Amino acid sequence: MKKVIIVGGVAGGASTAARLRRLMEDIKITVLEKGEYVSFANCGLPYYIGHIIKDQSQLELMTPEEFWDRFRIDIKVNNEAISINRKRKTVSVKNLESDKAFELDYDYLVLSPGATPIIPPFEGIGDVPVFTLRTIPDSVKIKQFVEKSDVKHATIIGGGFIGLEMAENLKHRGVKVKIVEMLDQVMAPIDKEIAQFVHQELLLNGVCLQLEDPVDSFKCDSDNCFYVIPKSGKKIKTDMIILAIGVKPEYNLAKEADLKIGPRGHIIVDEQMKTSDPSIFAVGDAVQVKNFITQEPTGIPLAGPANKQGRIVADVIAGRDTKYQGILGASVVKVFDLTVSTVGLSEKQLKKTDIKYEKIYIHPNNHAGYYPGAVPITLKLIFEVPSGKILGVQAAGGPGTEKRIDVIATVIKFKGTVFDLEELELTYAPPFGSAKDPVNMAGFVAANVIKGDMPIWHWHDIVKIKNNNSFILDVRTPEEYQIGTIEGAVNISDLELRTRLDEVPRDKNIYILCEVGFRGYLSTRLLIQKGYHVKNLSGGYKLFKTAIATTEEIAAECGASEEIMEEMVERKTTITEDYIEVDACGLSCPGPLTALIKSLEALPENKKLKIYATDPGFKASVEAYAKLNDAVTLLYLGKEEGKLVNFPNE
Ligand SMILES: Cc1cc2nc3c(=O)[nH]c(=O)nc-3n(C[C@H](O)[C@H](O)[C@H](O)COP(=O)(O)OP(=O)(O)OC[C@H]3O[C@@H](n4cnc5c(N)ncnc54)[C@H](O)[C@@H]3O)c2cc1C
Repeated sequence: MKKVIIVGGVAGGASTAARLRRLMEDIKITVLEKGEYVSFANCGLPYYIGHIIKDQSQLELMTPEEFWDRFRIDIKVNNEAISINRKRKTVSVKNLESDKAFELDYDYLVLSPGATPIIPPFEGIGDVPVFTLRTIPDSVKIKQFVEKSDVKHATIIGGGFIGLEMAENLKHRGVKVKIVEMLDQVMAPIDKEIAQFVHQELLLNGVCLQLEDPVDSFKCDSDNCFYVIPKSGKKIKTDMIILAIGVKPEYNLAKEADLKIGPRGHIIVDEQMKTSDPSIFAVGDAVQVKNFITQEPTGIPLAGPANKQGRIVADVIAGRDTKYQGILGASVVKVFDLTVSTVGLSEKQLKKTDIKYEKIYIHPNNHAGYYPGAVPITLKLIFEVPSGKILGVQAAGGPGTEKRIDVIATVIKFKGTVFDLEELELTYAPPFGSAKDPVNMAGFVAANVIKGDMPIWHWHDIVKIKNNNSFILDVRTPEEYQIGTIEGAVNISDLELRTRLDEVPRDKNIYILCEVGFRGYLSTRLLIQKGYHVKNLSGGYKLFKTAIATTEEIAAECGASEEIMEEMVERKTTITEDYIEVDACGLSCPGPLTALIKSLEALPENKKLKIYATDPGFKASVEAYAKLNDAVTLLYLGKEEGKLVNFPNE
């Protein structure tokens, strides 16, 4: 009977083992897992800490006994593969409970050892309570520390997926959280302007951000207080530290066996997941694969690819000609009420290639605006020009954001174009979507750009534009224009444009803006047909003002926000029954602002106004409106059950 040994019993390893048994009944399968648990839900660990997943046993998807009973797979937990003898086809194993070593022989060996958290040798790291998160025992340690040490403040180093999930879950446990990040944005796989919406959501939920500030050292001072000391010197007093700055592939076993290793420490495999030794396969976080779009080597640590690669290995061992086509990096993360999701290439990545691309931004609602609870999705679609082939997409928004990214991921997989997005027939009913789904909308807008029906300009073109014989035309309402616009812009609302055409100079390049791009599009079409040179601001002023907020502005808001948050909560509790409530949820621009202005006009004396909205852009509008109007004081701005709420008091 042929023997297969699998090293690592979680995502990739457990998948390989189970599929292999489904394909080959007469084969001996042994899984070596150095940890206590096999096939556990590592993706659920932050939610266990946050007490969303209440019971640890819910994280244990299968026990070794279940693997044996159902699949006759021998899972050896607490057993570490120490070395590989490729000549003799044996693995040396150490039982971590008994400390005894033994040897197993194999016909095929599968490596799925995963990755380990990066822990740089920071000065003082041993003097402070620092945690990383990879395993169930890690999550138990963090959970117990939060509970037993009465943690009030946590510092999370790293604003990646795990850092963001930990921020939300610790907040959920009542802990104050600060994220310290080396880059000028959280979530490195997406572009900065989309990450700014994540920054906004974090701040609105009371999470502080210290961006562009790499951590330098830690300190425990004489009165037993712990400090994180970043490069800027702005030290942070904290009760615990979560280090989430990324992972490195677990490659020691493979390296010592002289298998080929890539420049970033990944095990190199071919399309069939074979290493440089044809009897040894490798899958998951530890391997270097090809990017599906560029065909360049890469390594992206995600559960989906690890599972799929495991299935491919089982197929190949069973004699099937299955191949891994490359990774797309489809990912999603929940950041409080925001779903942030991406697939394919970001603009940052594309800038390093020769690919000619264009991008569009849209902000459609996640479902029909008239059905309660609609929330916008800010979506950036990047495509090749002139072919329209889709290269990448990223979005931040309400429920259903990830569904749109998944649809586009499927189109990318089939090498589709923006014209395919236009044609997709997708499900629709008011609680779920719109007759023209956001995916179709992305296709319509991108196709309009390629066909020349809607020439566009971008938020980062502003300096160039100002020097280009330009006339910046804001086609929003006078009220919207008044609370904030691009410097030098002239206001003619789209409703008046036809009758005020003589105010638009014919000898200038016209750069249009509106709030999200739609009224700008209508105006662009009108002016093009009247013979003007026109471009519309993609994503509108909403994207512009969010994208250009500087790190200093974000940091300033954050630096003070710990105190502001406390003050706000105090103020909120003092606002009792004496208010009128207005629900502007589901309205997209300029709906919430118009509702605010109208409600304030009609507000009886001595009453306060409490207004709910789901458009995150309302935060900036309401702040600007309050600043501009002496009679209006913003009493509170924050989140209640996912809805943005504020008390402007006239
Ligand atoms: C907190 C957290 C949240 C995550 N959330 C998501 C998410 O939401 N979505 C997503 O796509 N991905 C997520 N991931 C990433 C995902 O879990 C990994 O990409 C995936 O588990 C990788 O599978 P793998 O088989 O390569 O490694 P793992 O699943 O990590 O399994 C590797 C196993 O190998 C064992 N091992 C290593 N060396 C040896 C040895 N020498 N001998 C015996 N055993 C060994 C390890 O103990 C480990 O259990 C998350 C990861 C973490 C830690």
